[in-house]
Amino acid sequence: MRAILPDPDFIVWTGDDTPHVPNEQLGEEAVLSIIGNLTHIIKLVFPDTKVYSALGNHDYHPKSQLPPAQSHIYEETAKLWQDWMEPDSLQTFRTGGYYTEKLLNHTGYRVLVLNTNLYYDQNKVTADMEDPANQFSWAEQVLTSAASNKEKVYIVGHVPPGFFEKKRNKPWFRPNFNRRYLELVQRHHAVIAGQFFGHHHTDSFRMFYSSDDTPISAMFLTPGVTPWKTTLPGVTDGANNPGIRVFEYDTQTLLVKDVVTYYLNLTHANVARARWEKEYRLCEAFQVPDASPASMHRVLEKVAGQQCHLQRYYELNSVSYDLSRCDEHCRADHVCSIREVDFHRYERCLEKEGATVARLTLLPLLLSVALSIFGVTL
Ligand SMILES: [Zn+2]
Repeated sequence: MRAILPDPDFIVWTGDDTPHVPNEQLGEEAVLSIIGNLTHIIKLVFPDTKVYSALGNHDYHPKSQLPPAQSHIYEETAKLWQDWMEPDSLQTFRTGGYYTEKLLNHTGYRVLVLNTNLYYDQNKVTADMEDPANQFSWAEQVLTSAASNKEKVYIVGHVPPGFFEKKRNKPWFRPNFNRRYLELVQRHHAVIAGQFFGHHHTDSFRMFYSSDDTPISAMFLTPGVTPWKTTLPGVTDGANNPGIRVFEYDTQTLLVKDVVTYYLNLTHANVARARWEKEYRLCEAFQVPDASPASMHRVLEKVAGQQCHLQRYYELNSVSYDLSRCDEHCRADHVCSIREVDFHRYERCLEKEGATVARLTLLPLLLSVALSIFGVTL
C-alpha cells in the first residue's frame, strides 16, 4: 500500500482479519491478537493516517456471532483502535460495534461505520430482533441530521445487503434487515456519497434505485487482500488474487471519481516472483466519466448488454484469477445481484434473465449460425 500510495487522505479497512477456519482453531484471544497485529502493522506503515475500520463477521469468536450489546471483543478492539476514533465513536463502538464522526474532522463531511454483522443470517444472537443494538434508528438519526447540516456521508461496512454474485439465491442479510437497509439508503441517498463494503473477497458493486428507477447510490465491494478459496457449496473455482484499491474522490463533493485496483497475480508469483501491479482503472475499463451512481448504472448496462464488457467484468470479479468464459447463466447471476438488492426484485430479475437465456439460445438456430485507500484528485 505504501509503495502504491504513500500518503493517502485516509484508509478504509473493511474487516475479516482472521483465517476462515473452524471455531475450534481460534478463540477470543487469538482473534484479538490477530486484529492487534494488523492494527500494529497499519500504524507502523501509516503512522499519521486516519483509518476507518469496520468489524467483519470473522473478527469475532465464535465467528459471526457479534452481539447487539457490550462485549469483551468490542471493548478490546476499541482499545486497539482508540487512536483512530473520537471519544463519542468509542462509546457507540463498545456497545454496538458501529460509530460515526466527521470525515477527517472536516465540517460538512461524515463517515458512518456500520456493524452489518448484526444483520448477517449466520448471526444467531440477533436472529429475532427488530433493530439489533438500535443501529437502524441510530443511522436514521445520523443521516437525518447530516441532511439538515448539509453534510455528505460515506458509509463503510463489512457484510453487504443483497446477493452474492457467485452463487445464485445466496443473500447475506435476514429478509427484514435487508429491506430496512435498502429503505435507509432510499430515504437518505441525497446525503450518501458512497458505500464501501467487503466480505465477498470479489470485486463487484451494488446499485440502489429510487421508486422511479433512477440510480441513487452505488456500493463498492472491494476485493480481499487474502486469496480465499470459497467453501460455499455450489461455487466452482471461487478464488481470487489478492487485491487492494485506491479511490480517487472529489474532496468538495465526495463524488467518487475513479477506482484503481492493484493486485498480486498468484500464478505469476508462483512461477517467478511476487509483485503488486495495477490491474485496472474503472473509468478506462468501462468508458465512464466517473464512478457516480449514474455512471455505475452505465457500467451495469454495458456488462448486461455486451459480451466483451461482461467478460472483462467477470475476469476482474475474481481479481483476474478466473479467466474462464462467463456464459448466460453466469451473466444472469452477476447482472441480477448488481442490479437488485431487494430479495423479490432479484427473483424477478432472474426470471426475466431466464427468458433472455431462452431467446439467446434460439437466435443462433434461426440464423443457422456476458483494504481500500483514498487519494485526492484536484
Ligand atoms: Zn466476511
